Formats: sequence, C-alpha cells, structure tokens
Amino acid sequence: MSHTTVIEIDSQQFITNLQAIRKEIDAQVSNRHKSETQVFTTQAFATHMSKTKICLPVKANAYGHGLVGIAKLAQPYVDYLAVSCLDEGITLRQHGIDKPILVFGAFNKDEIAGLIANNLEITVSSQYKAEQLASHCQATNQVCRVHLKIDTGMNRVGVKVTSARGLFECVQLYPQLQITGVYSHLASSDSDDPTFTLEQIASFKSIVDYAKSINPDIICHLANSGGVCYYPGAYFDMVRPGILSYGYFPSRKINKIITSPLNQIKPCFSLKSRIIYTKMVDKDKGISYNQTYITKQYTRVVTVPIGYGDGYRRILSNIGEVLIQGKKYTVAGSICMDMLLVDIGPNGQGRVEDEVVLIGCQGNEEITLASVADKCNTIIYEVLCGFNDRIPRIYI
Ligand SMILES: *Cc1c(COP(=O)(O)O)cnc(C)c1O
Repeated sequence: MSHTTVIEIDSQQFITNLQAIRKEIDAQVSNRHKSETQVFTTQAFATHMSKTKICLPVKANAYGHGLVGIAKLAQPYVDYLAVSCLDEGITLRQHGIDKPILVFGAFNKDEIAGLIANNLEITVSSQYKAEQLASHCQATNQVCRVHLKIDTGMNRVGVKVTSARGLFECVQLYPQLQITGVYSHLASSDSDDPTFTLEQIASFKSIVDYAKSINPDIICHLANSGGVCYYPGAYFDMVRPGILSYGYFPSRKINKIITSPLNQIKPCFSLKSRIIYTKMVDKDKGISYNQTYITKQYTRVVTVPIGYGDGYRRILSNIGEVLIQGKKYTVAGSICMDMLLVDIGPNGQGRVEDEVVLIGCQGNEEITLASVADKCNTIIYEVLCGFNDRIPRIYI
C-alpha cells in the first residue's frame, strides 16, 4: 500500500445505488401510468418506461468520490453525466468517457471553444448567452447541443418562467444551436413542507408542455435527489440524483416506505488511514498545538497521518472520532495540517500500521458521514467535497 490515508469507494455498493434508483423511477413511472390508463400494452409500457433517463452529477470530483473513477463505474448504468464547469468536462473526455455530458454552470465567452471541442452539452441561461454561443458557432461553422435553463424558484441561473418562451424563440432562430434539453432546479425538495416544490413542479410542467409542442424529443429534466425520493411528478424525461447516487438521503426526516428499492441505497465512501507512530505520554501533558488536550494518566498516544491539509476539518479537534481495533476514540488536541493524534489509553491496542477508520465501518462500529457533518455544523455535501486530491481514491 503506497499511501497511508485513502478514500475507499465500494464500487459494488455504488452500482447498487444506481440500480436502485433505476428500479425506483421505473416503478414510480409504471404506477403512475397504471393509474392514468387502463389500456396500456406491455410494449408501449416498456417503451415508455425506458424513457426516464438518469443523469449522474459528477461535479466537485464526483462529490469527493473521484471524478474519473466514478464516471467509469457509472457509464453502463446512466444515460448522462453532469459537471459544473468546462475543466471537469475536459478531464472526463481526456479519460475516454463518451457519454453525453451536460455542463450545469453558466459559461464565460472564452470557454465556448473548449465546450464545443469537447462535445459538451451547454447550459443556455439567457438570450445574451445564446447569442454569444451562436455567433461563435457561426464564425467557426460548428453546431452545439444546448439545454435551456429555466428558473422556477432558486433565483439563481436561468431565465424566469415568464421569459422561457422568449428564450426558446430566440434559440430557435439559430440553426447552430440544437435544443437538446430544458431544465430547472428544485430549491427545497429535501424539506418537510412540499408546498414550494409542488409549485416549482407545476411551473416547470407548463414549460414542458411548451417544449414538447416544439419538439417532443427535447429532454425535460427537473428532479435532484429529493425529487427522485419524494416527487415522482418531477421526473419528466430525466432525473439528476447526486447525493442519493453516492448513498445518502437528502433528508434525514423524510423516510421512504420499507418496500422501496431505494432502501438498498447505502454510502460507498470510507476514509481510512493507518497508525504511523505511537508513544507513551506522561500524565498532565498537553497534546498537539496549544495544549488543548491534557492527558489524564500515563497513556498511549498514536499519530494518524491525516489533517486539515487533506480536508479533515480542524473544527473536529477534540470532537472527531476514529475507529482503531474496532473501538471508537476521540481525536486528542488540535488537528494539524498533516496529522492528528488519538489518546487510546494506557492499555489501548493500536500499534503502528493498524488501520484507522475516520469515516465508515470497522468491526461492529461505524462513524457516519452524517455524524461528522453534524460536528462540523454543516451538510454531508460539504464534508464530501472538502477532501482534496492529496488523498488517493481507491475503488474496491
Ligand atoms: C448538484 C445538482 C444536482 C444534484 O443535486 P443532489 O441534491 O445532490 O441530488 C442536480 N441538478 C443540478 C442542476 C445540480 O447543480
């Protein structure tokens, strides 16, 4: 083993998650159609079912799971990948990923050439952006695929619902721009209160009806993870579950019924290291910078080679937990840039090279990402994205 600290991805669990999402959306769509119509031939039914595409967001290094590794694993199970910016798209293409890739973010003028050269599908969020893109395509004699972005409530990127028609009409004037998709984003699909989400779905539905009247093949998409879990009415032609694909439910409060395929979804991410050093320390000694932890007895203190320089947040000093020899211990003292320390007691069993689990399972114990996020006073998304490239991702 070349690196002492690694992020281990359980490939099979990740694939299971994608398959569970596939089963759930197929089941929900089939239920809806059973209730909508009595006569639905198996053939027509199958055709319809296969229509709901899955777009896997792999932005931010695939939520910390490793951009290229995750894209390679996911390719056979998804229809689309999505990134937030040009560079992420280029990396995927350089590694031979040939799925359609949608770039979520709004582009800058100087990124247009790269977006087109890498066959990336481009988000068009205003008439101004459409004109920029079209004039580049005209000048270089190229065409590109675009997804129009409608703002149904985030008040972020995208045209207002009232301007959607205008954007469609504008883009249609340019033969260089092929309208491949139209989408919007849910702001509160993880909330207990469905009111706002249902309003967003209804607004988007009006856009979908209009888009389909122009071209029934336009891919209409809205649902993020919360949408997939709790709002089958938000599926339309494609869903974009991010955090759910990686094994986490967007809301800890809302639970699925026990029979749902989504119950197979579990985290596939573990953060592991090894004890790199151990020593006995006398009673009443300060551990690490500024002596924020004082030993209560003559005790064994072990060093683990991970710190805030890897993205293991310093706020976890004296509260973060690790597993050693199947037992849970608390981080002792301030977390350093490259190391942290653990007091395992005078009779603690940890020795050099023993495995240390910082997130994940060891024996019968588990440290969940949710518990780490709570201690950091943030959401699991931010903790996952915080682990940087110094930690290798290993796919088992
Ligand atoms: C990140 C993102 C998603 C995925 O969100 P999750 O909450 O992780 O499911 C979907 N759509 C857009 C536009 C996004 O930016």
